[in-house]
Amino acid sequence: MRFILGLISLIASIALAVCIQIFANFDILHFGVLMIVPAGAIAIGYISTTGYFKGMEKSNVYLTPLRMVFAIIIAIISMISIEYIVYLFTSVDPETYNTIYSLDKGAHISEFEVEGYGQMTFLNFKRYMIESTPMSFSLKHKEIFSVTSVTGLYILNSIDYLGIIIGAWLCGMKLKDKSYCHQCNTYRQILPIFNLPKEQGEVFIHELESVLSTEDDIKISSFLNQYSYNQSVSKQEHYLCNVAYCLNCPTAILSIELYEYNSKKAVVKNESFEYEKEIYKSYINYVFKNLEMKNNKKAIV
Ligand SMILES: [Zn+2]
Repeated sequence: MRFILGLISLIASIALAVCIQIFANFDILHFGVLMIVPAGAIAIGYISTTGYFKGMEKSNVYLTPLRMVFAIIIAIISMISIEYIVYLFTSVDPETYNTIYSLDKGAHISEFEVEGYGQMTFLNFKRYMIESTPMSFSLKHKEIFSVTSVTGLYILNSIDYLGIIIGAWLCGMKLKDKSYCHQCNTYRQILPIFNLPKEQGEVFIHELESVLSTEDDIKISSFLNQYSYNQSVSKQEHYLCNVAYCLNCPTAILSIELYEYNSKKAVVKNESFEYEKEIYKSYINYVFKNLEMKNNKKAIV
């Protein structure tokens, strides 16, 4: 499954970038923010590997470092394919002698030779484009400095390769964050069970720790059962309690997330807050009973 979905997103990323470059004349692959943040390459790296990671999730395949390397190879294949296909479309306008993207107008770039580079094969053309395109950095329309040395230009161009790797890696980290059960070889399902206002959080966690230490099923269950999910709480600063579970294991992971206001007064997750605890599923049987009822209802509808 991951190979089929991987191939689909690889082809989609290539088609997207090639179409944007040929029809809108916008080189997304080498688009950078402030010239050095390879935003376009990151986006292409991300898109090209989406299918591969999605397929891994759907078929419950664990993300090992080797599979991450494979994803990075997919992203690099995407980048090289985009550059090669764009090269196939690159021709020289017979009237203006400018390069254009066309299959039927003008002569293909490979029919030309450039002094010092020879015939414009794919590799020679790439070498020529990199070495003959000086890059300048401007701020408020004033040039601050420009890079003309060959080494400098190769370093700037290699940033795009770094971008494509970062894009694939970011896409993979989304999957890496998912809780995985190595006994059942499956990604755990995540279910939000309740939330509470931020100001009650500290006391709640303290009480949770002490009630969990009793290992008393009934006590723990009734403690957790008193909370519920409240829509209005989710709009203010709050703690959200989730449970990540698999079908066969007796234990599950209870995790608490903290949501706070950012500078724009939007409620966002505080990534530096982490709380996870392995608990017995029997502690939260009520959650699974509700879930069963909901699923049955859905089945009836
Ligand atoms: Zn399991």
